[in-house]
Amino acid sequence: MKLPPLHHNTPATLEEALDLLGEHGDEAKVIAGGQSLVPMMAMRLARPAQLVDINGIASLAAMEDRGDVLAFGAIVRERAAEKSSVVAERAPVLAEALPHIGHVSIRNRGTIGGSLAHADASAELPAVAMVTDAHVVVRSRRGERIVAAEDFFVGHFTTSLADDECLVEVRVPATLPGAGWSFQEVARRQGDFALIGVAAMVALGGGGSIDTARICVFGVAERPLRIRTVEDALAGAAPSPEAFEAAAADAARDLEPPSDVHGSAAYRRHLAAVTVRRALTAAAARAGVPG
Ligand SMILES: Cc1cc2nc3c(=O)[nH]c(=O)nc-3n(C[C@H](O)[C@H](O)[C@H](O)COP(=O)(O)OP(=O)(O)OC[C@H]3O[C@@H](n4cnc5c(N)ncnc54)[C@H](O)[C@@H]3O)c2cc1C
Repeated sequence: MKLPPLHHNTPATLEEALDLLGEHGDEAKVIAGGQSLVPMMAMRLARPAQLVDINGIASLAAMEDRGDVLAFGAIVRERAAEKSSVVAERAPVLAEALPHIGHVSIRNRGTIGGSLAHADASAELPAVAMVTDAHVVVRSRRGERIVAAEDFFVGHFTTSLADDECLVEVRVPATLPGAGWSFQEVARRQGDFALIGVAAMVALGGGGSIDTARICVFGVAERPLRIRTVEDALAGAAPSPEAFEAAAADAARDLEPPSDVHGSAAYRRHLAAVTVRRALTAAAARAGVPG
């Protein structure tokens, strides 16, 4: 299918890109990897008159280890992060999630920033951003905002980005030494969007009890969900199979997942319980809990 007529702008600087976004407002869309936007335009689900192509802006291409955070510029490709030994070591839950996205050819073009800005409720990276308490840096001609993942995702394909704003950087906190992590998803085929997925992290305190647990479930609601009541209940508990089984049942109980051709709500709720239990168990094992 052909794309509708449009102007393809290729700014060389961020300032130029922000001017274009400010000038054209809701007529304009940023294009990064194009792996979601181009199919949406071909299907006429998006009809921007102006494309603001950020791929020529060298200042958005850096991937940096800043000690407490890993920073990914807006045109860092998913595949570049996947192949990075720094990401594998310092943000292993991100490294574990990346291979679940589509296929290599998609990850060669798709960007981390684009995935967050696209905010598909079944996408992997928004859940990683939520479980790691990541932040995004957003710029417009009006200034800069640093937005927590929790406040960035509003609904399916909806974020708190305004029309004139460009996401310029994603900041993922480095995983604390000793903390365990797990990323699990159920999809019909490798590379498909998830029917349901879970990102979890577990850190142990003195005496071997759980100090903190984080659980983010995705594919079951309009946006990825941190299950904070269950996280709070796990803090201080012994990291036993029984505790994880009960936590998983509690996490799944209040979910209201969609029903569609891929699976009923009841099936997804069942998968949520199984997947949360597996994710907590795997994260705890990596934190040092004996199997
Ligand atoms: C066959 C196929 C399978 C896929 N499977 C998966 C999958 O399993 N899981 C998954 O998560 N994704 C999947 N994807 C999508 C892929 O990961 C995309 O690369 C990603 O979602 C969007 O990144 P992008 O850089 O391509 O963004 P683009 O397509 O360029 O943009 C997507 C949206 O984000 C906005 N945007 C992009 N960058 C910025 C920015 N810096 N500032 C402001 N707005 C911005 C655009 O305006 C647009 O609305 C798949 C895609 C295809 C084609």
